Amino acid sequence: MLRRALLCSPALLLVRPAQAQQRLSVVASFSILADMTRQIGGDRITLRAIAGPDQDAHVFQPKPSDAAALANAALVIRNGLGFEGWLDRMIRSSGFKARMVTTTEGITPRIMEAHGHDHGGAGRRHHHSVGPRQVPDPHAWQDLGLAQHYIRNITAGLVAADPGGEALYRRNAEAYGARLAALDQWVRAEIAKVPAARRKIVTSHDAFSYFGDAYGVRFLAPQGVSTEAEPSAAEVGRLIRQIKAESITALFMENMSNPATLQRIAQETGLRVRGRLYADALSAETGPAPTYEAMFRHNLSLMVPAMRGDAA
Ligand code: ZN
Repeated sequence: MLRRALLCSPALLLVRPAQAQQRLSVVASFSILADMTRQIGGDRITLRAIAGPDQDAHVFQPKPSDAAALANAALVIRNGLGFEGWLDRMIRSSGFKARMVTTTEGITPRIMEAHGHDHGGAGRRHHHSVGPRQVPDPHAWQDLGLAQHYIRNITAGLVAADPGGEALYRRNAEAYGARLAALDQWVRAEIAKVPAARRKIVTSHDAFSYFGDAYGVRFLAPQGVSTEAEPSAAEVGRLIRQIKAESITALFMENMSNPATLQRIAQETGLRVRGRLYADALSAETGPAPTYEAMFRHNLSLMVPAMRGDAA
């Protein structure tokens, strides 16, 4: 009797925190996916990025607190295409059973040659293949057109995990999709300011091939699609000769990569590194690229004058 009275008491219902209890707990593998998910989920979700701002998600080492967050998540958002091998291993070892969204689902990946290194992580680091191996390129988020697949997949995952939020998620997704479509047009207009023959950029690793395909820029990098292996001296030497032969002026570091090779290339070509592109991670809140959209605006603001060879 007493028990029933307590359960029915309005006072008891007020004890529950009004919002926190209902919010959907979502974990994203890295900062870019976390921002996309926040744009769609808004205040209805709580969100944690495992690989945070300026962290390299190719070679990320998860902490025990990351495994705990994963175990408590109602929904996990990952890129797929071999990008987050550490996440797949965490999931295998944890018996994780929550819903998972693979944001690149439905995208036909670019296939690239692995430079004798492996996305499989530390355990398989010393794998040396004979001849080039073909691997999918995971960096599809660098094409704003392909980001529409990311939006669709994230939205479907949020709706499936929290049907009560469907109207909000779909409204946010539509507005976000429209913003990214407008940003895509802006990127094209910016690239159009560079003479076609000068649309070439040297950067640390092969993170921008989807960008290059979408927007007509050729990217050259001493490192392959992963950051796990250092480039060989011969590879770096070849790149230096090519930079000189083609009079390339746009030389960049990336926010989450080791700058040593790029500094050497700068020294030997006499070029100046034109700043830092945001490739596989956003900046902190106070930095120049705290959101996916800000990342494109920042990168273009550096790329365009560098490709034109403008003094800076
Ligand atoms: Zn990368």
